[in-house]
Amino acid sequence: MLAYSTGEPDHIDSPQAVRAGSKRMPRKNVLENRLRKQAVIHLEYRIRIAVPKVPDIGRITIGSGSFVQYDYLIVASGATHSYFGNETWESDAPGLKSIENAIEIRRRIMLAFEDAERNAWDTCITETVNFTIIGGGPTGVELAGAIRDISTFILKHEYRFIDPAACKVLLLEGSPRILAHYPDELSRKTDGQLRKLGVEVHTNTRVTQVERDSVWIGAVRLPSTVTLWAAGVGASPLGKCFRDTHRSGAVVVNEFLNPKGYSDIFVCGDLAHFDQDGKRVAGVAQLAMQMGKHAAKVIAEDALGRPRTAFRYFDKGDMATIGRHRAGADVRWPFTTRLSGYPAWLAWLLIHLFLLAGFRNRASVFLSWRLTYLSRSQAAGLIMEEPKGSNVDRR
Ligand SMILES: Cc1cc2nc3c(=O)[nH]c(=O)nc-3n(C[C@H](O)[C@H](O)[C@H](O)COP(=O)(O)OP(=O)(O)OC[C@H]3O[C@@H](n4cnc5c(N)ncnc54)[C@H](O)[C@@H]3O)c2cc1C
Repeated sequence: MLAYSTGEPDHIDSPQAVRAGSKRMPRKNVLENRLRKQAVIHLEYRIRIAVPKVPDIGRITIGSGSFVQYDYLIVASGATHSYFGNETWESDAPGLKSIENAIEIRRRIMLAFEDAERNAWDTCITETVNFTIIGGGPTGVELAGAIRDISTFILKHEYRFIDPAACKVLLLEGSPRILAHYPDELSRKTDGQLRKLGVEVHTNTRVTQVERDSVWIGAVRLPSTVTLWAAGVGASPLGKCFRDTHRSGAVVVNEFLNPKGYSDIFVCGDLAHFDQDGKRVAGVAQLAMQMGKHAAKVIAEDALGRPRTAFRYFDKGDMATIGRHRAGADVRWPFTTRLSGYPAWLAWLLIHLFLLAGFRNRASVFLSWRLTYLSRSQAAGLIMEEPKGSNVDRR
């Protein structure tokens, strides 16, 4: 069996694009040891880009044009941004899906303050720095909270002429409430916590146009120094290999996680469209992990000549952080409760720490979080050079 791994740094739960030729080598040993312990028969670990091409019988095409043979194939290439047909908005409103995206977003945030300081120095006029986040799901909520935190605490003493805390953070959501998939009460509490933090939340607000320095809501123009996209998720292009896909591009899978027509291929995680009790299960890390384990279990059942077990998602709950001390949590396991504010934030920290692979990672992440928390680390202020060949405008 050939296992393709995502090779993610172990302390980050958002998807990481690991590309061939990248200098960031994965924690191969940690992953490999874990897989070996879990009795993977034969493991080869490689970083290759699979090409979106219909899998031939028992083989897939990779970037170099060569083939990789498989007995079973698990496809878990995740999700990407969807601009709902407005792909040109991407350069003016990047989304957050990879480390590269995160670095680019940080660069834009920092340069917005740097530019405002320089202008204030040159012209003695202090302009408001406007941040607009489109989409009030967990990513939008977390981004809005993080920007308020950076501007209020981390950059507090960084500038002479401007006050970063005076920036405006707008969260625009098209539906009647933010965190629309969370229980109503939690969504209301999160809304309140964001407003307390100084985020302007606008629901029922659908963005119709994104430009370099503004967003449009119908005929209304809102100036925006930095616009971020957290409104749409689409499946990775590998989904195109399969016939039966949802309109998001996600691959419809049966109860054994097989796409239509392939009993030796499993599609897991964000790339899979899996219905349970008449509803699509949302793409979160716990679903991806449970699906991965289940695919391995089905392969083992085949090897032992046993009937295949159907997959059932065990939902332990949802959480979203709101800046430094706040979060919203809808806990469904090991008990049912709804938390908000500081207790929810603490629960978020503990759960994410606990879910990391290996004690060493847990300990090092815990120490680094403690240091960052206590020192209000200035690392957030680092401005990286724009990636070579990027067509993104320098701000
Ligand atoms: C900002 C952010 C915050 C999040 N926070 C949370 C959270 O707090 N809790 C939670 O449960 N979920 C969270 N999620 C969702 C969670 O990250 C995903 O549900 C989860 O990572 C899905 O796992 P996956 O393995 O399906 O895909 P991914 O983790 O996206 O992994 C897919 C991998 O496949 C690689 N790949 C893509 N195409 C190819 C190809 N053609 N060939 C080879 N490799 C390829 C990608 O580079 C990537 O490494 C968050 C997501 C984001 C964006």
